[in-house]
Amino acid sequence: MEPIKVKEFISEIDGELINGSLETKIDEVSIDSRTIDKGALFFAIKGERFDGHNFINDALAAGAIGVVIEINEISEYSIDSNILVIKVEDTSKALQDLAKYYRSLFDIPVIGVTGSTGKTTTKDLIASVLEVKFKTLKTEGNYNNEFGLPLTLFRLDSSYEVVVVELAMRGLGEIEYLCQIAQPEIGVITNVGVTHLETLGSQENIARAKSELVMSLPPEGKALLNGDDDYIRMMANKAEAEIVYYGCGNDNDLEAIKIENLGADGLSFIVNQQSRKFEVRLPLPGEYNVYNSLAAIGVGLELGLSIDELKSGLAQPNLTKMRGDITELDSGITIINDAYNANPTSMEAGLNLLVNIGNKKGRLIAVLGDMLELGSIAEIAHRRIAKIVVDNNIDYLLTVGELSALIGEEAKQLGLAEEYVFSYSTNQEIIDQLLQLVDTSDTILLKGSRGMKLEEIEEALLEG
Ligand code: ATP
Ligand code: MG
Repeated sequence: MEPIKVKEFISEIDGELINGSLETKIDEVSIDSRTIDKGALFFAIKGERFDGHNFINDALAAGAIGVVIEINEISEYSIDSNILVIKVEDTSKALQDLAKYYRSLFDIPVIGVTGSTGKTTTKDLIASVLEVKFKTLKTEGNYNNEFGLPLTLFRLDSSYEVVVVELAMRGLGEIEYLCQIAQPEIGVITNVGVTHLETLGSQENIARAKSELVMSLPPEGKALLNGDDDYIRMMANKAEAEIVYYGCGNDNDLEAIKIENLGADGLSFIVNQQSRKFEVRLPLPGEYNVYNSLAAIGVGLELGLSIDELKSGLAQPNLTKMRGDITELDSGITIINDAYNANPTSMEAGLNLLVNIGNKKGRLIAVLGDMLELGSIAEIAHRRIAKIVVDNNIDYLLTVGELSALIGEEAKQLGLAEEYVFSYSTNQEIIDQLLQLVDTSDTILLKGSRGMKLEEIEEALLEG
């Protein structure tokens, strides 16, 4: 972060100075007293489970230069007269307002990425490509919500030339709000699948929520949209910015043709763009990565990268963990860790990856955990996965959790023999079963929602 003085931003956050000086400079912002650095401004956020006001003393002990609070009474805290104390109505909103102000100090393009599935991977591929030419700041991990986005933007300093942020949403209006903070000039929508049905109710509502990104772009901006997604096509009339469609259908501006799946070695395909064609290689498996890399190519072209620069960025992608990571154990067993999260779209993608990587080697073992947050479609969505398992001749199906037990039940009904289906309630039972079952040349897929923590299974297998 570049240092900013309190007098510069206090009105931006509707703050009142209770203690300390307007001349104080802050050069870091934190909402977590456990990781706070010396000199940071601590925002006491009231969350669902914690109230940051209870950690003010910890933050000060760790060297915070000041605190932003909602309460009137500060006498119970041992606050020196030189410590900065700013009072606001709502500390969360103040954090977001400060991020919005701070972002506005930088005249550089921000790229916003949203969609139901593939946001993190697409964001990482965009950053991998842009890094070839520009110093690029990107969202780390999953810092993609109303707290993660501000904290990402505070990492900006004058050395950066471009920013790529992941924008998550759970309800209508959230993407619009995140866009007010980040002010993206280029927006990418990966797809509109069935996630967050619990909070949004219908796929139309999900599409409407994502379309807020398109609506937030300035007229001189660009919307890079997955043109093979019917719900996304319906957003076109919402955009003032120019739209560039990407995908595999021939009605896209950036079309992938001659896709070759090279298994664990990744993918190659040809990009067909109006008058020119060029080949790209991606060392990542999973055909969905054709879409994710087309988005990265679109952003790269928009920001003036040459085709050679695009190719070299995609040749060395820098990805976030647990999105289809492949590990080969000394014993010959291959583990595909796709355990970061799951929804129906990505679970199908994960199973395809299993078939692709493992088919020629030996037996295929799918370890599937519950897909959470699906609301009323949860049962049917889990049952549908069984068909994909059976149609792809997956050898063993191990499920963990109550919902994914339905995948097992349905798979048996579809003809997968009982001795190949195991349903458990804990990861430990899965580990015990796998240790008995696995053989060299097996390939194991680990896939489930974040709450299922299926990476524990990989850790146990690595230990033997
Ligand atoms: P979250 O909502 O949890 O932040 P995300 O949208 O960031 O998820 P990723 O973490 O990039 O998504 O990908 C999650 C999984 O979805 C991957 O491991 C892969 O299995 C699958 N996936 C990635 N990209 C796509 C895509 N374009 N289409 C379908 N599935 C995909
Ligand atoms: Mg993500």
